[in-house]
Amino acid sequence: MLVAAVVPTFMGIALLDYFAFERAKNQAQTVSKAVLKRADDVLTQLWEVSRTLGDMGNSPPCAAFARAEMGKLVLQSPLLRAIAVLDGSRVACSSLGHSMDKVDIGQPDFVSVRGVKVWSDVVLPAAPNLHYSALADGGYAIFLNRGDFLGAAELLAPHMTLGLAYPGTAAQFLGSGNVDPAWMEGLEDRVPVTEERAGAVVALTPSSKFSFFAMATLPKHAYLHDMALTRWIVGVTGALAGLLVFTVIFWQSRRALDLRTQLQRAIHNRDFYLAYQPIVDLRSGAWVGAEALLRWRRPLGAEAIGPDIFIPAAERFGLSGDLATMVFDLARQDIPVIAAQAPDFYVSLNLAPSELCSGKGRALTQRLLEVTGRDPKLLFIELTERGLLEQNAKERIEELRALGVRIAIDDFGTGYSSLAYLASFSLDYLKLDKLFTQGIADKGPRRTVAIQIVELARSLDLDVIAEGVETTEQAMAVSTHGVAKAQGWLYGRAVPLDELLRRLPEGLRPPPRAPQAIAQEVPAS
Ligand code: C2E
Ligand code: CA
Ligand code: CA
Repeated sequence: MLVAAVVPTFMGIALLDYFAFERAKNQAQTVSKAVLKRADDVLTQLWEVSRTLGDMGNSPPCAAFARAEMGKLVLQSPLLRAIAVLDGSRVACSSLGHSMDKVDIGQPDFVSVRGVKVWSDVVLPAAPNLHYSALADGGYAIFLNRGDFLGAAELLAPHMTLGLAYPGTAAQFLGSGNVDPAWMEGLEDRVPVTEERAGAVVALTPSSKFSFFAMATLPKHAYLHDMALTRWIVGVTGALAGLLVFTVIFWQSRRALDLRTQLQRAIHNRDFYLAYQPIVDLRSGAWVGAEALLRWRRPLGAEAIGPDIFIPAAERFGLSGDLATMVFDLARQDIPVIAAQAPDFYVSLNLAPSELCSGKGRALTQRLLEVTGRDPKLLFIELTERGLLEQNAKERIEELRALGVRIAIDDFGTGYSSLAYLASFSLDYLKLDKLFTQGIADKGPRRTVAIQIVELARSLDLDVIAEGVETTEQAMAVSTHGVAKAQGWLYGRAVPLDELLRRLPEGLRPPPRAPQAIAQEVPAS
């Protein structure tokens, strides 16, 4: 449950972080390009100013026509507010008449590797309320509105560090915000970079005209901070979605595990068939009948569930009656097909104690006989020893017998009824449980009990069918003690109807031979 809640939550947050990171990369890249464009423009202007003014021959830089040229350049530029000729840090002359002459603009805040000087905040006496930035190269200075150099981008991205990074033995930075030297590594390679470096998204865009890079960095906490609420929402919905998925899976697997639901559905869909296991006459070796054993046709990939599991389960769930109805329905379809090929072949059906007691067994048997028109003595009903212990068992068995069917007592000796108790019932056959069939060939105590059961059965005029005959020794041992019929893997396993029909002709007419010879047959799989 914890995993179901935690995994989608973490995946959701990780995905969100990834998108936040991608967004931050985009933002840093866009800003660094904007910074680069403005810096390129400004420095191009500075370069053009110093080239134009420097190219004016040998005349003094503050000559009247040179100042007029300065005024013209300012007028033509959307960026420039003034141009000045510097003498050290003092203005020698400017495009603004004499208003700036002799003004000391102080030491530059930054000097680039190529000698470009930058004053980021200059206040001129003629306009004390305005702030300018100044850049100077080769004795000429240009003045711009302070925000027109790097400052505009600052407003766009208040969390960012942005400015110009100059490569060199120790990289220089001109701009705003804190700088981690790790952000400016590898500038010599002059390749654009947008990646995470030292806890920030760093975008570096090299200028194609100058040696600097525009740099914009966004610290991780800043871009994740924007996502804080979304992270919460994603976290909580992720956990809820995970729990929901978990609940659905859990509920479905519970459903899959619920044998009762599966049985109910299988009964409703009639996912069952009868398999027939031959019963042989030990004297002739011929097949005389078959026991119908219920099989569950399971969905593809589902584990097989045998009748030893689902029949007791159906009884617990109160579905035993539905299964009995199913068995008799299936028998009603199969018996006429078998009878058409083997008119004297009997079919033996198992009846659970509850159906014996409720009278349902009798009703089903009667209907089966009516619908198929089958000779009742070719229908055997197998009742377990447990069925004999039910209160009204005697009457119910009488009722069944009155229909003309044969009654076999199944698994005798595995329950608690005494041999003497058996004498009080009117029965036709006793099926010797495989425990005793297999014990009769041994030397142990089971052999003694098995022999007693067989002898008692004979004294009660009951025919014995030995179940679970797997070896020739077992076949010979039961035969020696007067058992007339046998059933077991030595003769054949329970098979679907079509296979029974295929093997019937051979089973019905075995070549004349002794029981030993019959017993030596290779068991069918
Ligand atoms: P059962 O009536 O005693 O059926 C005999 C069981 O022994 C069958 O198991 C059969 O496959 C198995 N068997 C047959 N020959 C041999 C052998 O040589 N060696 C061994 N080791 N086993 C052998 P199956 O088919 O699994 O049936 C188990 C039990 O389920 C049946 O025991 C019976 O009690 C019950 N059952 C099966 N079909 C029905 C049915 O239609 N209605 C009712 N009420 N119970 C049924
Ligand atoms: Ca049986
Ligand atoms: Ca049995």
